[in-house]
Amino acid sequence: MSLEDKYLITVGLEVHCELRTATKLFCGCANVFGSPPNTNICPVCLGLPGALPVLNRRAVEYAIAIGLALNCDVRRSVFARKNYFYPDMPKDFQISQYDEPICVEGYLELPVAGKRVGIVRAHIEEDTGKTTHVGSSGRIQGADFSLVDYNRSGIPLVEIVSAPDMESAEEAREYVSELRAILVATGATDGKMEEGSLRVDANVSVHRKGTEELGTRCEIKNLNSLRSLGRAIQYEARRQMEIVEEGGRVRQQTRHWNEDQGVTSSLRSKEEANDYRYFPEPDLVPLEPSSEMVELVRAELPVLPPARRAALSDLAGGKPNRSELEQIGTCIGLDLDGFVSSAAEAGLPFKLALSRAANELAALVGAGEALSPEAFVGVLKAEDSGRLSATQAKAVMAWLAETGGAVEEAISALGFVGLSDDEVGSLVDRVTAEHPNEWGRYMAGENQLAGFFIGAAMKASGGKVNGRVFSALLAGKRESAQS
Ligand SMILES: [Zn+2]
Repeated sequence: MSLEDKYLITVGLEVHCELRTATKLFCGCANVFGSPPNTNICPVCLGLPGALPVLNRRAVEYAIAIGLALNCDVRRSVFARKNYFYPDMPKDFQISQYDEPICVEGYLELPVAGKRVGIVRAHIEEDTGKTTHVGSSGRIQGADFSLVDYNRSGIPLVEIVSAPDMESAEEAREYVSELRAILVATGATDGKMEEGSLRVDANVSVHRKGTEELGTRCEIKNLNSLRSLGRAIQYEARRQMEIVEEGGRVRQQTRHWNEDQGVTSSLRSKEEANDYRYFPEPDLVPLEPSSEMVELVRAELPVLPPARRAALSDLAGGKPNRSELEQIGTCIGLDLDGFVSSAAEAGLPFKLALSRAANELAALVGAGEALSPEAFVGVLKAEDSGRLSATQAKAVMAWLAETGGAVEEAISALGFVGLSDDEVGSLVDRVTAEHPNEWGRYMAGENQLAGFFIGAAMKASGGKVNGRVFSALLAGKRESAQS
């Protein structure tokens, strides 16, 4: 029996989401990524003595939008000081929300796993600066010196804390991917994990199957891609199982994920809330969004991924299978569901549209190219009618994404113009005349020889013949010869 069969994994996630406001949370400095270090700073976000915070209204609206999208209660909240000393935080405290967060008690559905994950809370806080340790390790141990960039200091964040409802690395990945799609749809964030707009910490514990009590958890930091998240959880769960199996005890720790080595390592013993000596922020009044404000934000929410997924699932005509659910997820994550519904509305088969959107179109979009929904539908029509083979249809999509223009233009530029029915008819006459022996056998009922003739016709036409049309005309020739 493997360890994985003996133990259950429990995962809870904390996701920090950078909001797409024009300015920072408490000052007028620009909220942009990639500026030269220490250029978007002022006395407030540098924490200079006497500087006072002024709350950014847009950040509050985004936080409310996130709460509503995650089915939370939005309510009165209080800002608090979270005290700790680290050079990237010049005030020596971070303004956050503690015992009265703005959003509580929501949930998110995992479509593929088919389960609901609770959202304990989502609160507003400011980001810290960014420290770069210069030296061979890139970490503080062994660094020659460290540099601090305060451009990120004071950028508005919403931290979303899930319940420990996930039971595998796979479910955790699905949660983050679905959460990301929802957050991006609200407009609150660009969701770019590679730029740190979305940062994930994972709380992982294991316990023996058949026992109730959860094990001691470790928190893994530095997870900046779905791949890292999955690998780190798998590694950490395995590490804990081995400790417990050998009769040891898992120590509560904050651990660092090392992407290159594929291991987690101890960063520090995990803090308890009282280590931070939280107290209410005296420079900010409690935040009490009016119901009018909440309803205004609700009215402006777009159709969110769960509803968009339901719409596509309806088009699937019944319950989509697992791979279709994954394809639907890919389409929604990349905003391609409109392509699939346009194609379905044009009478094209749903499965074909979904597959082309989730695979070929998604790859093109991933490479920074674009295709109009009309062009997509046009290509699929040509493929569905048999005018283009699957390979040709994919090539046409790629050509259109790169060059633009009309579907017909692409088809002729790529030399995929098919033959007219008359031309195919003469091709039938030609190849049957060239192969009298096979033709005789086909006439006598050896139907599999149709493939032989199609091959010959493909060769003779340089691949331009439509196999479906050719087969029909070939069968027609035999019928009229026999009657
Ligand atoms: Zn500032």
